[in-house]
Amino acid sequence: MNALDHLRWPFFEDRHRAFATALDRWAAVQVRDAHGADVDALCRRLVRQLGDAGWLRPTVAGSAYGGLAEVIDTRMLCLARETLARHAGLADFAFGMQGLGSGAISLAGSPEQKTRWLPRVAGGQAIAAFALSEPEAGSDVAALQCSARIDGEQALLDGQKTWISNGGIADFYVVFARSGEAPGSRGLSAFIVEAGTPGLEIAERIDVIAPHPLARLRFANCRVPLANRIGAGGEGFKVAMRTLDVFRTSVAAAALGFARRALEEGLKRATTRKMFGLTLADFQLTQARLAQMATTIDGAALLTYRAAWARDMGDQGKSLTAQAAMAKLAATEGAQQVIDAAVQLFGGLGVVSGHPVERLYREIRSLRIYEGATEVQQLIIGKSVLRS
Ligand SMILES: Cc1cc2nc3c(=O)[nH]c(=O)nc-3n(C[C@H](O)[C@H](O)[C@H](O)COP(=O)(O)OP(=O)(O)OC[C@H]3O[C@@H](n4cnc5c(N)ncnc54)[C@H](O)[C@@H]3O)c2cc1C
Repeated sequence: MNALDHLRWPFFEDRHRAFATALDRWAAVQVRDAHGADVDALCRRLVRQLGDAGWLRPTVAGSAYGGLAEVIDTRMLCLARETLARHAGLADFAFGMQGLGSGAISLAGSPEQKTRWLPRVAGGQAIAAFALSEPEAGSDVAALQCSARIDGEQALLDGQKTWISNGGIADFYVVFARSGEAPGSRGLSAFIVEAGTPGLEIAERIDVIAPHPLARLRFANCRVPLANRIGAGGEGFKVAMRTLDVFRTSVAAAALGFARRALEEGLKRATTRKMFGLTLADFQLTQARLAQMATTIDGAALLTYRAAWARDMGDQGKSLTAQAAMAKLAATEGAQQVIDAAVQLFGGLGVVSGHPVERLYREIRSLRIYEGATEVQQLIIGKSVLRS
């Protein structure tokens, strides 16, 4: 099986095919299996490496700001994440966060905000973070409490954010806070907060099963210029949802990359492991397992690239949000099953710390939770089905 076979699908244009093929070659040499004890240093290095080589350009919109296209090309974003995830989870993380962290600026930022940040994000000189979740507001985003009080030409932020990827190493955070223009989700605004701004503290670094920079942030009387507000006051929820809508499909693509790597590893093992006078792949039970893995991957890939293609085409025929939700649901849940099957093919070796399939087993888990847990995706799809 060739991991690039799907590039022949009609969802893609030649520029997508050329990009994915070249990135695959580069990643195989430059970042394959990148991991290490110091994840902060590694992530900084990966952002710089990806930026220097030009691979971060799809993460921002606008050629004047270093972007590859005038609007974010979802298929390019997805192909990049799938490819990088297949080679190294942290390389995908570094890429994905540059997009998610700066997405609100690409989608709704002022020309000044774009000029200041997007070229540095695309060049790998500035690390981005997206700060939405709070200890008491995860799936229920509209319950967020972090406040933004407008004081003349400044906003004063107070409160907490948690589970913030790149927390501790980011150069800037896009922070969503309650500015109170209206009740509930209509009273939120988004602000760019530069690292080092007085009143912003990294309150806690969080260790997770697949380590990457992650932190809880505390804001205490943190003053930011009102010019750092993204969009108008009260538009924060809309900005957050628009950002997640684009990047959710790319989470599906990352899951797909992990699943493809698991199949690749599992296939190598099944065709070489001798047992009972045969090889593991000679047994029909193994063939059934491999068949299920391959079918799950193709199904997830079709949903992922349909969602990416539909977004790029501005297809209004069916809810784009529901298509993205289907892609994320199928790809993340499917990848978990594919990776588990690969661990099983490896027997004891599959659970040895640091083995590629053991790493995948840990890496896939949080994708079923962040950017909308599986249950949140189910609700989005269910509502869309009921409306249709
Ligand atoms: C590794 C990692 C990185 C992250 N990075 C970021 C980041 O960079 N920026 C950021 O803002 N956030 C980030 N998050 C936070 C993430 O988005 C939240 O963890 C997620 O939204 C779930 O929120 P919660 O953890 O508070 O869980 P809860 O909201 O408490 O949900 C717990 C569980 O309840 C279930 N559930 C949710 N809704 C329903 C429902 N309606 N019906 C039934 N069951 C339901 C789901 O299974 C869910 O997992 C990250 C999280 C992780 C784990």
